[in-house]
Amino acid sequence: MKGMGVTLKTLGTKKVTTSYPDVPIEMPDRFRGIQYLYEDKCIVCFQCQRICPTECISLIGKPNPDPEKKGKVLDTYDINFELCILCDLCTEVCPTEAIVMTNNFELAAYSRDELFKDMKWLGDENTKNIRQDNNNIGAPQRGGGKAE
Ligand code: SF4
Ligand code: SF4
Repeated sequence: MKGMGVTLKTLGTKKVTTSYPDVPIEMPDRFRGIQYLYEDKCIVCFQCQRICPTECISLIGKPNPDPEKKGKVLDTYDINFELCILCDLCTEVCPTEAIVMTNNFELAAYSRDELFKDMKWLGDENTKNIRQDNNNIGAPQRGGGKAE
């Protein structure tokens, strides 16, 4: 009888389960998901690589092919998601927001090799749910005020 009472009590309440994976789960704005890379924005400063606590970013720069422009452009950029802990540090230090978080979290694979993602995958295939305002969502702004 007690069990029946619980069933009847919860019968009319809002469902807490979802039909994942048939219905995608909406993650919160500050969710730390698989990074997206804007290759063109990268200035090859290595800050993301230096701050990464698990040393899972490797990148190589090359001289800008446009002789009119100074600086370097990316040659390769890889993240090993076997090691990445999605801590968000790489995106926070990036001065140009070339590397940003997304709301995507599905990385299950049959082979560890598939968890090694290159520049092409990070920029061309991981294109959904990209965080638009990487550093300021709900974060305190200069002077202590909250972002609106
Ligand atoms: S999220 Fe953290 S662990 Fe993953 S690549 Fe960025 S800094 Fe490294
Ligand atoms: S911190 Fe940003 S600009 Fe610098 S190398 Fe990393 S992705 Fe490129």
